[in-house]
Amino acid sequence: MTPKVARFLRDVAPATPCLVLDIDRVEENYRRLIAAMPLARVFYAVKANPATPILERLVGLGSNFDAASWEEIETCLAAGARPEAISFGNTVKKESAIRAAHAAGVRLFAFDSEAELLKLSRSAPGARVYCRILVGNDGAEWPLSRKFGCEAKMARTLMLRAAELGLDPYGISFHVGSQQTKTSAYETAIGRVAMVFTDLKEAGINLRMVNLGGGYPVRYRQEVPEIDDFGAAIMGAMVEHFGNALPEILIEPGRFMVGDAGVVSAEVVLVSRKSEEDPVRWVYLDIGRFGGLAETEGEAIKYAFRTPHDGGAEGPVTIAGPTCDSTDTLYEKSNYRLPLALDCGDRVELLATGAYVTTYASQAFNGFRPLAEHYV
Ligand SMILES: *Cc1c(COP(=O)(O)O)cnc(C)c1O
Repeated sequence: MTPKVARFLRDVAPATPCLVLDIDRVEENYRRLIAAMPLARVFYAVKANPATPILERLVGLGSNFDAASWEEIETCLAAGARPEAISFGNTVKKESAIRAAHAAGVRLFAFDSEAELLKLSRSAPGARVYCRILVGNDGAEWPLSRKFGCEAKMARTLMLRAAELGLDPYGISFHVGSQQTKTSAYETAIGRVAMVFTDLKEAGINLRMVNLGGGYPVRYRQEVPEIDDFGAAIMGAMVEHFGNALPEILIEPGRFMVGDAGVVSAEVVLVSRKSEEDPVRWVYLDIGRFGGLAETEGEAIKYAFRTPHDGGAEGPVTIAGPTCDSTDTLYEKSNYRLPLALDCGDRVELLATGAYVTTYASQAFNGFRPLAEHYV
């Protein structure tokens, strides 16, 4: 937790549940990222946290933006982003959204199928397009698996088709899965991209861009490699495969940019046991899966907790949200332990929750309001 967030929580004691996020930390993360990968252009993955103060700060720093919908594009434009700084990176787009983006001046689009290329050729004629390929997601705690991307062989065919359709076949992208803890995931993926470049060169098409996607991790309960380790592995692989004919490099960090800038402050609503002998206490918070903690699905992302009793004796707990749905149980199998002194009414903090929380909150399930947000 940054000192500014700690001060805000202490002095303002905002109503819970809420997210408090330090915009200066976002700037620090942006600067660390470009220091680790000086040749890459940053396209912030807006879905991680689309709050206007974040977008405005990043516009000021010269960042670009990866948007997944026309609505996200509008949000970026309203925050001052130039349309040329926006990539429409979702491979699944309504044609009306493509048309709106193109009319607004967006010129860079992702695809992974022929049907999407046909939409792009009709509604964004002449645009730069890049094809997303499937790569392994091993090592990712929030994998994206097979939903997006096509096989490398199909990418070759589709890029030739893009040229025939009058589009500009610009490059190849991939995503190694979110909260990726292994630097080797990028190295393997870059090798695969290089083969597509070579194949297409032989077919007369010179690709100019590699988009490395997101995935760069945040520290939750476990240590993760530093961003410099990712930068070194990535640049090593780029030089190994492309030599001194390096293409343009794009990166789309989401979680890394905002995750450790934010903290969710929550209240303990109830601490109970299922029987007198049961050592496991159930701790119910005023935020759960429907309040924004969607990434606790399958206990995939394991947030670290801070309580007023840290340092005292601890015991095992199951941690759950406040709604009347049994899937609103956050952690049952991940060996969480919290202080025995924890009691109803205590305020607790969930650390490094600046990414993928605010917009995942349901509208009003069981009447609970979406998460409040404070940008400091
Ligand atoms: C979600 C997403 C990202 C951001 O991923 P992180 O793991 O948060 O860095 C980047 N690119 C695309 C296309 C995405 O869908």
